[in-house]
Amino acid sequence: MENRLGLPEWLVEAVDKTRGEYDSGKSDYSITSLLQPAMVQELKRIHNPPEDVTDQLQAFIGTSCHNQIEWALKGNPRYIVEERLYHTFHIPEAPGDKKEFIVSSQLDLYDKQEKTLWDHKFSKLFSFTGGGKKEHEQQLAYQCYLLKKAGYEVDSVQISGFGLDWAKTQVGLKADYPKSLFCRTPYPQWVDEDVEEFIKSRILDMEYAKLGQIRVCTKEERWARPDQFKVKRKGRKTALRVLYSRQEAEEYIANLPKPDGKEYIEVVEGEDIRCVHFCNVREHCNFYKEKYGG
Ligand code: SF4
Repeated sequence: MENRLGLPEWLVEAVDKTRGEYDSGKSDYSITSLLQPAMVQELKRIHNPPEDVTDQLQAFIGTSCHNQIEWALKGNPRYIVEERLYHTFHIPEAPGDKKEFIVSSQLDLYDKQEKTLWDHKFSKLFSFTGGGKKEHEQQLAYQCYLLKKAGYEVDSVQISGFGLDWAKTQVGLKADYPKSLFCRTPYPQWVDEDVEEFIKSRILDMEYAKLGQIRVCTKEERWARPDQFKVKRKGRKTALRVLYSRQEAEEYIANLPKPDGKEYIEVVEGEDIRCVHFCNVREHCNFYKEKYGG
């Protein structure tokens, strides 16, 4: 493991060992790997890029807290804690000879009494507020599917979110600011057919990528932030309006009831947040090299 910021050796060792504990069991895919873009997964498989301890710290905190919750609740028969479940998908249209794929997922916690499935996440608050994240919903949908296949009833699926940037001093300043570092985000349950279709399409994406047919990550997968066209007025600090195309911005100015001729458009270029800040295979990615010249 690399250490570009020169963090203490004890921390590097602890992070490295904790990371080495991860085991996706006897499966072809874990749901976590299926939720990654196929291009990222495939470029990682081919180039095996080095990890840096700095980029692993958030995951380290997450794993440590998972272990602690498991330690505390494992003996309580009310809960199923940290159990890996499996399901096999038969996909005749898969390219290549392989047609059976085992997909696993490790359940963080199932409360038998409340019939609630929980998945713990350790991240910034915005991951848990404002409706949550699509990847969280997809992960819970598959875990719920597995639980039901194993004979359990599920009334509710929730993310148990630990907001790493939560600050007590912010409570009460904004109406929707959580009162606690712990946030619960409920998600809808999916019907089985939707789960199966989703998992199969992700597997096909991955299998085609392994054969060299790699599709470029979508805007959504790149966490693309679009260009912004801010309509501003000289002498005023804030924008009159923020729009997402030059045409819309020009039309907005043309239709202003009281234009004073001091309006102008300021363009703020968008960015592919995952590519630029989080993807550790970008140096092997043609999309990135063409767009950002890396
Ligand atoms: S740099 Fe962007 S487009 Fe390329 S693999 Fe990474 S996330 Fe995907």
